[in-house]
Amino acid sequence: MSRQDRLDAIAAEIRGHRPCGFEPCESCSTFVPGEGNPDARIVLVGEAPGANEDRVGRPFVGAAGKLLDTLLMEAGLAREDVFITNVLKARPPGNRDPRADEVAHSWPWLEAQLAVIEPELIVPLGRHALARFDPAAKIADVHGRPHAAGGRAGGRAGGRALFPLYHPAAALHGGKLRGALVEDARALGAWLNR
Ligand code: URA
Repeated sequence: MSRQDRLDAIAAEIRGHRPCGFEPCESCSTFVPGEGNPDARIVLVGEAPGANEDRVGRPFVGAAGKLLDTLLMEAGLAREDVFITNVLKARPPGNRDPRADEVAHSWPWLEAQLAVIEPELIVPLGRHALARFDPAAKIADVHGRPHAAGGRAGGRAGGRALFPLYHPAAALHGGKLRGALVEDARALGAWLNR
């Protein structure tokens, strides 16, 4: 089976997931498995789908997604080059933060996607996604450069190659992180071209 076929099978499993008692899986309109290049060198991981994503079933399609497209451009990348997904595949009601048991429930799908793609780098977007891969790391300390995950997360040992970025949505409100995000995206592009 090709990588695409295996990713399609994971996406089909997610979309076919039946209400299981976890609130996001019960209340979402659409599951959002993620999408992109099966041979991507980097996988971007957000926290959870928002209202727009919940409507259309695709990751980062709202305002944060537009900024993400700009950041990818700054890195010399397009959506077609990368794979974009979230820790949670279903929107928590009211955009609340995912709960630990909901993260644990969804984590095997993310692990399965990462096992298929085997990216060189995982790009956690924002402090919440970063915390899932390296609970001890602080986004303000580690953003914009390669960072080896140190802790245990999602039930597996660390040691993964991360390149954390601030969450694009954080730069939409107030905008003071926007400059840092653009600079970090360029650093990501430089790392990929090194
Ligand atoms: N924010 C996220 O973390 N993920 C999305 O898909 C959209 C907004």
